[in-house]
Amino acid sequence: MLDHRKLGRELDLFDTDPLIGAGLPYWLPDGAAVRHALEEYIRTAERRAGYRHVYSPVLGKRELYEISGHWSHYSEDMFPPMDVGGEQVVLRPSLCPHHALIYRSRSHTYRDLPLRMAELGDMYRAELSGVLGGLTRVRAIHLNDAHIFCTLDQIAQEASAALVMIRQAYAALGISPTRYRLSLPGPGGKYVAGAEMWRRSTALLTDVLDRSGLPYQAAEGEAAFYGPKIDVQVTDAAGRESTLSTVQIDFHQPERFDLHYIGADGRKHRPVMLHRSIIGSIERAVAHLIEQHGGAFPGWLAPVQVAILPISEAELPNAAALAQRCGDLGLRAEITGPEQGTLGARIRAARLVPYQAIIGAEEAAQKHIAVRLRDGRRLNAQPVDDVLARIGAVINAYGTDLWGEPAEVVE
Ligand SMILES: [Zn+2]
Repeated sequence: MLDHRKLGRELDLFDTDPLIGAGLPYWLPDGAAVRHALEEYIRTAERRAGYRHVYSPVLGKRELYEISGHWSHYSEDMFPPMDVGGEQVVLRPSLCPHHALIYRSRSHTYRDLPLRMAELGDMYRAELSGVLGGLTRVRAIHLNDAHIFCTLDQIAQEASAALVMIRQAYAALGISPTRYRLSLPGPGGKYVAGAEMWRRSTALLTDVLDRSGLPYQAAEGEAAFYGPKIDVQVTDAAGRESTLSTVQIDFHQPERFDLHYIGADGRKHRPVMLHRSIIGSIERAVAHLIEQHGGAFPGWLAPVQVAILPISEAELPNAAALAQRCGDLGLRAEITGPEQGTLGARIRAARLVPYQAIIGAEEAAQKHIAVRLRDGRRLNAQPVDDVLARIGAVINAYGTDLWGEPAEVVE
């Protein structure tokens, strides 16, 4: 059975050190390359969908979380406050309050809505050390987060669009949801009050799910403390289900932070806040990807995309030139020369690399390369320019088939 913790270590993606602490993994260069590609995918998708990115600090005054409601509903998951010169500051348990304040810092009219604010930012959770492990239970979380400030009439459309972004991302990542869940409040006092608000937001999300045509199940006791949500569930290699993506409606925080916009009638109105995450936390997403693909990531995500394998030392200059070309095109390439073993051994060592470019004397003379794809296909030697153009096109389109179409295979 694949375990992302074991595989992550073996593939040099991430690790932990007891001196840094449990639940605080660090990312090795290959893991960081995967993470960069994933974050850039998200930023690009968000820019295309009309989001604008912000940065906000990981700390905030205790008072901020008292206003947001985190302090009274969520403090057992928060790190204790730090005293700094008579002020109490807290490592943030979510990005929402910061984004509410960024919205509030400038005046807005109905023409500015929907206002889509996105950030890949850090947040912290005081998990107990007994439950920490790998990338799935961590104390420092890098969240793909966004908040859409909109009118009541715009919520359904925005929530549907977020669901479409989630499905597109899953297709590019080669993963599929286990199920969609409508998460509702349950018994107990951990939810904010307001029966009408809960009824209205539940009706809206139910409508969005019904219109999407996706099968879903309702689950009581899984809502956020401030509102119901759509959860996209995935299952890990051990069969445990967890939430990767979410879409949530929130009437509570706009009220708490007294957010408003000027309507067409010239009066002040309260916006609604839609919280949404396409891939959830980067840690959990990468853990899932490692297990799903056994380390053989889609081409656009792979830490090394092109393994350059010169047959003998005579082809080393051609290999270096090819590595340079790849770098110029934004492709991650690595040369493994003849000093590192026979060609067969080097091909086996690069078995998780999507493209293996083999250069022999004949190919070097003709400026050709012979390409082997990770899935076993072997292609005829062809001009370097053609190969790089094809690989670049597949990767830029976030394709999951390595050659973009059935490849011409050597007889
Ligand atoms: Zn939020």
